[in-house]
Amino acid sequence: MKNRLCSDVGLDCVAVVTAETVEEVLAQVAAHAQEVHGVRVTAEMAEEITEKISG
Ligand SMILES: [Zn+2]
Repeated sequence: MKNRLCSDVGLDCVAVVTAETVEEVLAQVAAHAQEVHGVRVTAEMAEEITEKISG
């Protein structure tokens, strides 16, 4: 199980994303950021999230 805080992508938010795989977490973070914050998750951000999840 992988999980990430929305704040990990630099947003002032306490939402937590939980999923089985890194890919799923990324997809959910991207959807949440877009929907809730109107922010598009860039390749750079995605890379950073991936690093934090695996690290
Ligand atoms: Zn958020």
